[in-house]
Amino acid sequence: MSTLRFRAITETLNRKPIFIEEKERRSNLFGQNVFNENAMRQYLTKEAFNAVRNAHEYGTKIPRELADHISTGMKEWAISKGVTHYTHWFQPLTGATAEKHDAFFETTSNGSAIEKFGGGQLVQQEPDASSFPSGGIRNTFEARGYTAWDPTSPAFIIGTTLCIPTVFVSYTGEALDYKTPLLKALSAVDEAATAVAKYFDKNVTKVQATLGWEQEYFLIDSALATSRPDLMMTGRTLLGHTSAKGQQLEDHYFGSIPTRVLNYMRDLERECMLLGIPVKTRHNEVAPNQFELAPIFEESNLAVDHNSLLMDVMAKVAERHNFVVLFHEKPFKGVNGSGKHNNWSLATNTGVNLLGPGSTPMSNLQFLTFFINTIKAMNDNEELIRASIASASNDHRLGANEAPPAIISVFIGEQLTKVLDNLENVTKGKLSPQEKTDLKLNIVGKIPEILLDNTDRNRTSPFAFTGNKWEFRAVGSKANCANPMTVLNTIVAKQLKEFKVAVDALIKEKKMKKDDAIFNVLREYIKESKRILFEGDGYSEAWEKEAKKRKLSNHKTTPEALKAKVSMKNISLFKEMGIMTEVESKARYEIEVEEYTKRIQIEGRVLGDIARNHVIPTAIKYQSVVVNNVKGLKEIYGGGFTKMAEQQLEIIEAISDHIEKINQGVTQMTEERKKANNLDDFEKAAKAYCDKVKPLFDEIRYHCDKLELLVDDELWPLTKYRELLFTK
Ligand code: ADP
Ligand code: MG
Repeated sequence: MSTLRFRAITETLNRKPIFIEEKERRSNLFGQNVFNENAMRQYLTKEAFNAVRNAHEYGTKIPRELADHISTGMKEWAISKGVTHYTHWFQPLTGATAEKHDAFFETTSNGSAIEKFGGGQLVQQEPDASSFPSGGIRNTFEARGYTAWDPTSPAFIIGTTLCIPTVFVSYTGEALDYKTPLLKALSAVDEAATAVAKYFDKNVTKVQATLGWEQEYFLIDSALATSRPDLMMTGRTLLGHTSAKGQQLEDHYFGSIPTRVLNYMRDLERECMLLGIPVKTRHNEVAPNQFELAPIFEESNLAVDHNSLLMDVMAKVAERHNFVVLFHEKPFKGVNGSGKHNNWSLATNTGVNLLGPGSTPMSNLQFLTFFINTIKAMNDNEELIRASIASASNDHRLGANEAPPAIISVFIGEQLTKVLDNLENVTKGKLSPQEKTDLKLNIVGKIPEILLDNTDRNRTSPFAFTGNKWEFRAVGSKANCANPMTVLNTIVAKQLKEFKVAVDALIKEKKMKKDDAIFNVLREYIKESKRILFEGDGYSEAWEKEAKKRKLSNHKTTPEALKAKVSMKNISLFKEMGIMTEVESKARYEIEVEEYTKRIQIEGRVLGDIARNHVIPTAIKYQSVVVNNVKGLKEIYGGGFTKMAEQQLEIIEAISDHIEKINQGVTQMTEERKKANNLDDFEKAAKAYCDKVKPLFDEIRYHCDKLELLVDDELWPLTKYRELLFTK
């Protein structure tokens, strides 16, 4: 075994699990490091407390003079917990979180020092924005951007730093982060859904979009991971032959969790408790070394922050346990990839889940209204939904025969399909009393039972109804949920707005009763949205054909999928709904397309390096061994050697053949990269990387993986799949 690999494996085998003692109840730990209501009550004046609360609940502005009170209270609370620094914490379009720490410490004119944190510092900061992606919004000479406090997500402490969630915008006001458009989309869906919910209950004054994500990930021993340059640089293995045992025995899913992993999970959950992230479920996933973590759902903005924070914390805690966490959607060939299901619903201030079963005919009609409007929104915007989850890494799932497919469809189960079929046949215009009673008793009235018994599961569907919420399953494990959640909430908001207009028009112009009008509009929506509903196998070829007939998009690659973000239709949608200006839409598109190019570029470079610096030299070394063996045989046996050396000669030739193919592949890939880099149009460059550079990865990998099987295990320098994926 190569020295490097030997060292990595020995280190791994000698690991002792770090046991985490839990002396305190988790409910006691919950939110201890969060400036939540409890902390605020203790550290803020009543006036300041109310200001933050009103900002949170109603979006009211916090008066400037109170900001100083709040910042002082926040600082005192933080210092009482040993904090020395503060940072504005935000989510730039790099996909990671960003922070720049400043000390509370300040010197005074008389040479001593104090801890200070003013309202100004809380409310706004000006980090140098020039090093974050902006899609050309800021020229570097005008590099200023600023971060502004988001009082709807509470400040929290990590280590000795107070983190203040903020939005990040350019000096001229354009959003440079994920949070800004998300907040706008959430406010749009609040407004639109509240107006519709009022048809059913006048007391509804606010609707919140709820989100419960399920984070999948792989855990790899850090010594093994560091011996793989591809994992370290790109988050995935670019080569490696599949292991003889993979997931075919299906013995990992929900299996017993290895001790070392369990200790990691417990340590992580403890950190989550302190940070107020309500994690609840943990289990093994399908692939070896793959796991999942899910919280109790929360209001979407907070849930998105918590997911970003979690990914950060997961990586940090992993270091303590000598693990590396992989969030990449497809770190290993031949075993399942990772996703991040986004469970989504709408909840009213009156405590009603608008996508949950009700107890009265009216509340069930309300359920149907929100249910069908979501389907209609998905039908009309399937391409934009696809674009919202597009990334180089998610292409490995969506376009590549892995759950779910690149075609967006909606799964509702057999029984709800029947309900929609029945509703579709409702008489046009005013309903007869008989029909209405019938409808209420036999269709609408049956909904609670149906939902209780919603055991239908279709794991291939990208967007499925699961009894009391929608589950958007196509989101990538690495993604920031804000991107898909911004789109989903925007399209539903727009749809609900249109619904309200249509219903009101029938009430006013056709003198219809409210529920007649609602039934009439819903009936038309069902007819118009049929093509998006699909109950079958999302992987089948038949579905691809059928989807094409239905004119559903099927964009298998990111450059293709992303285009929907800048179609006339979608630019207007974002503009009309007040989510993003045209400049912002275009800038985001450019950033995402360029990110795609960069990712593939990096992968290409790393693969080229490994193929030429690791694989080929190792193959040559082994080939020399075989050549010497053949020479020896010839020396001893003279003419009779050819028969004896038949196999060896074949190996020698096979190695030469693979080396040649790898070399050609790498050369060609480098050429294609050069050509792509010379294109000055960013879309063309991405397309070239996608169509010309990326396909060569498979060719190069194929031959490298064949060599892995041929070459003496003693010499092979790269930790193999069977070692990476099965260590405890
Ligand atoms: P699964 O079978 O897909 O694992 P679970 O029952 O474990 O489903 O739930 C998955 C996630 O759905 C959890 O994070 C849960 O909090 C979330 N969830 C449940 N109800 C809602 C809701 N009304 N809105 C948003 N998320 C929800
Ligand atoms: Mg799920």
